[in-house]
Amino acid sequence: MSIALTTQDTTTAPLLDRYGRRHTSLRLSVTDRCNIRCFYCMPAEGVVFRPRDELLTFEEIERFVRAVVPLGVNKLRLTGGDPLVRADLPKLVERLTQIEGIRDIALTTNGMLLDRHAAALKAAGLRRINISLDTLREEVFQQITRREGLDQVLAGIAAAQEAGFEQIRLNAVAIRGLTEPEIIPLAEFARARNLELRFIEFMPLDADHHWSNDQLLTGAEIRRCLEQHFGPLVPATRPDASQPAVDFRFADNRGGIGFINPVSEPFCGDCNRLRLTAEGQVRNCLFSQVEWDARRLLRSGATDDELRSLVRECVAAKAPSHGIGAEGFHQPERPMYQIGG
Ligand code: SAM
Ligand code: SF4
Repeated sequence: MSIALTTQDTTTAPLLDRYGRRHTSLRLSVTDRCNIRCFYCMPAEGVVFRPRDELLTFEEIERFVRAVVPLGVNKLRLTGGDPLVRADLPKLVERLTQIEGIRDIALTTNGMLLDRHAAALKAAGLRRINISLDTLREEVFQQITRREGLDQVLAGIAAAQEAGFEQIRLNAVAIRGLTEPEIIPLAEFARARNLELRFIEFMPLDADHHWSNDQLLTGAEIRRCLEQHFGPLVPATRPDASQPAVDFRFADNRGGIGFINPVSEPFCGDCNRLRLTAEGQVRNCLFSQVEWDARRLLRSGATDDELRSLVRECVAAKAPSHGIGAEGFHQPERPMYQIGG
């Protein structure tokens, strides 16, 4: 279905797709570089990163965001690669917090560089931060990330708590046959620090294309394991229907627990997310096979309305769901670190 829009509509009409989903959240990847090599995301060896001049500058990212705010985009998440590998990230945070209409900016990081940057990020106006932590054992950390560094991540978490962020969440990717023993220790760790912990199902976005359903450790299984240990989890109120996580609290109110179950319980019907890759390609889904080239527009004197039209085209083409497990599903060529999780 195509709807004719007036110039006024092009500038301000909400970003609705064919299925009535309204897009208000933008994930900004600021780099494809990373200082570790998680097997579910990157290859072990031979990674060729994008040349620096292909990455959007902070000015270009800011311009893109300013152009899409009138369409209703009001929530940003900085990601990568690891966003803290990008030099001067707090400067970008500062620019973005000043954009009228943006009501929430968050960051997802592996935590390796967080002890150095937590205070500056907080001072720049960042309020929420997600830190990836799949295990509390160094040998398992190395198995997953192919690097040393668990202590560095733990120092990052401590620094974030010290800096006083409003919200700190821990994200743990769950892998059958590997991370079952991590479930209870991670929950204890989060509870001891009064942090929220979210388990994420492994998605077919690994660079090696080795994902298989056998490695899927579902949120329901993890919940059963937690409830056997801690007793029944109490459902938390859901402030935002489009949030991917289903959240719970422990009966004693220490810490929080959530499940992001994109494979076993897809939440595509409520998706409100768009993505901009580090080199300026707009994507309507992690699993999309197509991208829309905003960098070309940003670097060729296009107007903001032209940028908005590109974003509308991208949203209009969004599929109803990711299709994992369906006949004809193809893992996207680009792995997670090149898209931005
Ligand atoms: N480097 C940062 C980090 O790891 O937090 C930000 C980028 S990373 C791609 C964003 C999130 O995606 C992390 O929590 C990571 O664990 C998760 N992730 C990466 N590959 C994944 C996969 N194949 N399935 C599920 N989650 C994945
Ligand atoms: Fe790096 Fe994050 Fe990918 Fe791990 S998940 S390799 S930390 S980008």
